[in-house]
Amino acid sequence: MRIYKEFLFEAAHFLPSAPPGHPNARLHGHSFRARITVDGQPDEETGIVLHFDELEAAVAEARDALDHRMLNEIEGLSAPTLERIAMWLWDRLHNRLPGLVEIVVARDSCHEGCVYYGPPLRLAAE
Ligand SMILES: [Zn+2]
Repeated sequence: MRIYKEFLFEAAHFLPSAPPGHPNARLHGHSFRARITVDGQPDEETGIVLHFDELEAAVAEARDALDHRMLNEIEGLSAPTLERIAMWLWDRLHNRLPGLVEIVVARDSCHEGCVYYGPPLRLAAE
């Protein structure tokens, strides 16, 4: 079974990899949406996989670090694509959320998003 929590954040960025003159090379902002998904079995007594308050506590610090920020200035996000934001969130959350299996980061206004299942070698590294 999987549970998830979504949160929104507003942030500015530019993409250094965009060609000169491309709008993405200029400073602009988005409303981003992130969804953090945890896998587990509900406890037989409580019926809970992971209390949503615990999930909220885990994501709150990461959300605060992103919301109303210039993403390019955040350590590890000098090229803040959706893919890099998803990886950045994974790095921040996977130790606090052992059942973490998926992170979605989306720009709903663009109908674009990224789904990240973690680094490919994580099972071999454990
Ligand atoms: Zn953008």
